[in-house]
Amino acid sequence: MKYFYYFLIMVAFFQPQEILAESKKNSFKIAVLYDDEFLLHNTGLNHPENPNRISHTINFLKKEYRFKAHLIWPSFDYAPIDIINLVHSETYINLVKRESERLNKTIATLSTGDTVISEKSYQVARKSVGAMIEGIDQIMQGHVSQAFAFSRPPGHHALRDKGMGFCIFNNIAIAAKYLQKKYGVNRVLIVDFDVHHGNGTQDIFYSDNSVFYFSIHQHPFYPGTGRPSERGVGDGYGFTLNIDLPKGAGDKEFIAGLTEQLIPAMDQFKPDFILVSAGLDAHDNDLLGQLSYSNIGYSKATDILLSLAKKYSMNRVMFVLEGGYEPINNKESAESILNMMISKYSN
Ligand SMILES: [Zn+2]
Repeated sequence: MKYFYYFLIMVAFFQPQEILAESKKNSFKIAVLYDDEFLLHNTGLNHPENPNRISHTINFLKKEYRFKAHLIWPSFDYAPIDIINLVHSETYINLVKRESERLNKTIATLSTGDTVISEKSYQVARKSVGAMIEGIDQIMQGHVSQAFAFSRPPGHHALRDKGMGFCIFNNIAIAAKYLQKKYGVNRVLIVDFDVHHGNGTQDIFYSDNSVFYFSIHQHPFYPGTGRPSERGVGDGYGFTLNIDLPKGAGDKEFIAGLTEQLIPAMDQFKPDFILVSAGLDAHDNDLLGQLSYSNIGYSKATDILLSLAKKYSMNRVMFVLEGGYEPINNKESAESILNMMISKYSN
């Protein structure tokens, strides 16, 4: 009987504390926005922007035990046209619908530029924007403070009336507009570390002083824009900041760009929300990119962005996949980014 009382004491004093500690450790959640429909945007055989880019990462995240406690997987719908219309003209939205839906198990190039489409591409592109809406709703309604959208097609090259560079709708630009329209968020920072300059995003906000666009990318490279001299126009002057890096540049240049240029700029701008165009094609040995960031570089960059979010935006950050053409690199970079989110906030 004596031992039974000892047992009760043990239960009362030790186990609850352990449970408490464990539940505190596991209470930090990140919303992952993914839908199997993203795999239906068919770009044909051997196209670099293909479903394997994300399916490899998703399979890993779903089975990896240490992520189970921290990732939530909300479902979401196609973005309504009026939300896509916050960035894109109705004429362009209808063009994408018409050119995509007339294809029957074949592929074609979107008439506005170098973007392969197929029968389901319009529908999948709407779902990709749907991921933005859900991620922002999850954050702004307080369910999580961080999200990562593994969506395709990507978006940062898409202009108001023109898809290009594998992009149909500019997901991240629509996300910024949606934040402002639905939640009245004043100042949005978009950080773009894809190896390519996000010409579409820059163009959409070029004269806007409420959305700060920061890009660090390879130059000379596709699409050719993104020189440091491009700083915005009119009211938007000073709210675009470009760093172009030569072929071969790596973590040192990446992190220096963030610490020496982005941080001081944000001490002035003070963003209310941070969106990240997380292209992973600046990773060493990417199929298209020629920079050489490592997984450690992505981890350090995430640390810097999360510190900015802690200082200015109540930890609110959404990462959105752009490019990244080696499935194993994508998986490893995504793992580094998510691990940093978890270790920074769950302790
Ligand atoms: Zn890219």
